[in-house]
Amino acid sequence: MRRRIDRACRAAGRDPAGVVLTAVTKTQPPEVLAAALAAGQRVFGENRVQEARAHWAGRRDGWPGLELRLIGPLQTNKAADAAALFDVIETVDRPKLVDALAAAAARAGRTVRVLVQVNTGAEPQKAGVVPEQADALVLRARAAGLDVEGLMCIPPAGEAPGPHFALLRRIARRKGLPVLSMGMSGDYETAIRFGATHVRLGSALFGERNPSETPSRD
Ligand SMILES: *Cc1c(COP(=O)(O)O)cnc(C)c1O
Repeated sequence: MRRRIDRACRAAGRDPAGVVLTAVTKTQPPEVLAAALAAGQRVFGENRVQEARAHWAGRRDGWPGLELRLIGPLQTNKAADAAALFDVIETVDRPKLVDALAAAAARAGRTVRVLVQVNTGAEPQKAGVVPEQADALVLRARAAGLDVEGLMCIPPAGEAPGPHFALLRRIARRKGLPVLSMGMSGDYETAIRFGATHVRLGSALFGERNPSETPSRD
């Protein structure tokens, strides 16, 4: 898979070192995690706090360099748990969650690294701040002391993803944000063309998930 990402980078005229592969391990059994670690994978994405804890709580110590990223929606009442477990929370999308994470960070005496999730298609059922309010939420998260590294998006299903990736890149540039988490198994090559720094891959790495266990994309 890394070779395919590197090839997409070269086709886009980009340095492969500028694109991180986030391996999405939601719904995967422990053997799959162990095999990925043994193969050298260190950056992992999870959708749910509870499942992430079951997957990773006992594994952290043995694997220096392990980085856990929350890529699923986060309830305010789980903000403290998420801040303690994850290195980066990619799904900050509303002021209440900013406040909850800032409070958790203050209590823990540490900085929390986050991305702001943008609902680039302004889909009513989907998580993420609408594009018109993205700049304000970035400013608010910074003012609250969160370490805002960049933006994340999930384009609408059934639409060409390119314009959505371009919109995310535009917002990131005007806010001076270096990280763009965009691109999944079906569209990571396009995302790399539009400047993705992190592609989040599940099925392309591990095969199709059992649909009955798959949390919704939202
Ligand atoms: C499940 C998921 C992925 C991975 O999806 P694949 O299509 O299997 O690569 C990426 N990002 C988010 C937010 C997800 O929920």
